[in-house]
Amino acid sequence: MENCVFCKIVAGEIPSSKRYEDEELVIFEDIAPKAKIHLLCVPKEHFALLSEADDARAALLGRMLKKIGTLAPSLGLAGGYRLVVNQGEAAGQTVHHLHIHILGGEPLPWE
Ligand code: 5GP
Ligand code: ZN
Repeated sequence: MENCVFCKIVAGEIPSSKRYEDEELVIFEDIAPKAKIHLLCVPKEHFALLSEADDARAALLGRMLKKIGTLAPSLGLAGGYRLVVNQGEAAGQTVHHLHIHILGGEPLPWE
């Protein structure tokens, strides 16, 4: 997808601090962290919204969650973490390539 910042990171055209990569996803540090640890888990395939998830993409999203769970201790997140998907304009989604925010490394206020 042209002019997609995450496609460019996936392709290595924009530098990023990658923490993990395999054939279908990449995990890298958010450039403007909202917590002590703030990572983004991004599928290599471009699609913008959950509403674009067919069965194959839904399975990919499941594998992304499983991978985050497996990798969490090695990412410094053994104490817990929060996953966020900003979906659409009202949620403040700024990059229209689906991504899961991974927040942690410190106590996270909820209430
Ligand atoms: P959204 O609001 O779309 O859910 O979040 C997009 C996230 O991508 C933001 O937290 C923002 O800081 C991050 N981001 C935007 N551009 C870049 C970039 O070029 N590199 C990295 N590492 N993160 C980015
Ligand atoms: Zn993209």
